[in-house]
Amino acid sequence: MPESIPLLDSGFLQSLPEKGIAEIGYEVARHFIETEVNEQQLKTVTNGAISFDAPLRTLKDDIYILELFHGPTLAFKDYGARFMARLVAQIDDKQEKDLVVLVATSGDTGSAVAHGFYGVEGTHVCLLYPEGKVSPVQEQQMTTLGGNITAIEVKGVFDDCQKLVKQAFSDEALNNKLRLSSANSINIARLLPQSFYYFSAYGQLQKLSGKSQSPVFSVPSGNFGNLTAGLMAMKMGLPLSRFLAATNLNDVVPEYLQTGTYRPRPSEATIANAMDVGRPSNFERIRSLFNGSHEELNNWLYGASFSDFSIMEGISRVYKTTGYLMDPHTAVGYLAVEKYRQETGSDEPAIVLSTAHPAKFGETVNKVIDKEVEVPDRLQACMNKKKLTKKMNAGYRELRDFLLMRYQK
Ligand SMILES: *Cc1c(COP(=O)(O)O)cnc(C)c1O
Repeated sequence: MPESIPLLDSGFLQSLPEKGIAEIGYEVARHFIETEVNEQQLKTVTNGAISFDAPLRTLKDDIYILELFHGPTLAFKDYGARFMARLVAQIDDKQEKDLVVLVATSGDTGSAVAHGFYGVEGTHVCLLYPEGKVSPVQEQQMTTLGGNITAIEVKGVFDDCQKLVKQAFSDEALNNKLRLSSANSINIARLLPQSFYYFSAYGQLQKLSGKSQSPVFSVPSGNFGNLTAGLMAMKMGLPLSRFLAATNLNDVVPEYLQTGTYRPRPSEATIANAMDVGRPSNFERIRSLFNGSHEELNNWLYGASFSDFSIMEGISRVYKTTGYLMDPHTAVGYLAVEKYRQETGSDEPAIVLSTAHPAKFGETVNKVIDKEVEVPDRLQACMNKKKLTKKMNAGYRELRDFLLMRYQK
């Protein structure tokens, strides 16, 4: 966590409706990143990374959808991955050896990291993923870039990939020859940019509704990075009334909010699979933001969890009544708003974070609405491209030799 979280001035908050998200991002980030890069470099980072909008759409009844899926991989993880990649490139500028980011992935993180670092000078990404264990969309997104991105298809499961990567990081001889780095999802450089769009949403809400009421933010959550970023925005002074911690059946955090007992456990598979997390890695961060007080946490967070059946029903009903199509993760956030309003009688405006485009989860969504969701051009283009992978057995020696051959200068 940052040592302290700065309170932004009221002039900044008032200016939000007039500002674009990249400009907002720069003004937020400069309070956190002062010594590592200069102003111009930070502008280059934010303008380069935050190059697509997060539009706020009116759904109905003072419910709004914040679309975070307009980046290259159609999910909000693009914000974090792109910002981190560009920041690393600036900080790393004067190193003589290129940086090799080594990542084991079961799908979503790999595609965001690959696209985030794609074309960033002085960096390479090497992704290891398990053969036959990632979705077709994810595989295409990871394996068709080429350039500084290399994908290795491992004959094994995710744990084999993870083990190989760990072996590489602990191989001293290898680390003397190559500059290896990870791109862990709890990296603060991935978290910070996720606070930008909360500010942007607040500004857009004022413009759309003409009111300056504090909104409720509903956040579909797995590892709770997105919600942690929202809490950081709140600590920076963003006016809001509450967060809805919305989960699928993996309800460790909603359960904690209700009972006060934290019970991390193995995850269960659901149709909102990017949130299948049983041991959320940002939970300690959230607790620390409230000095460990369960009561304080309950004042600001409301938990709700939903079954696959409810999620499908929600997608279908909202589509039929409004024409708006949500992906399964977004639907979890929407359902939490309904439940919160029913239980509390709240009439505050509610903003649902839409974490992915429905086409990214087309197999599920098509079945629910009984027709084919429209696939955005950038996804279609990627689906048509040739897959470039290196196949490998799950043995360490083969990986080491490959890394040396490919990256040693
Ligand atoms: C990663 C992801 C989430 C969960 O975000 P966390 O920050 O891990 O809580 C939700 N939806 C989608 C589509 C994701 O890819």
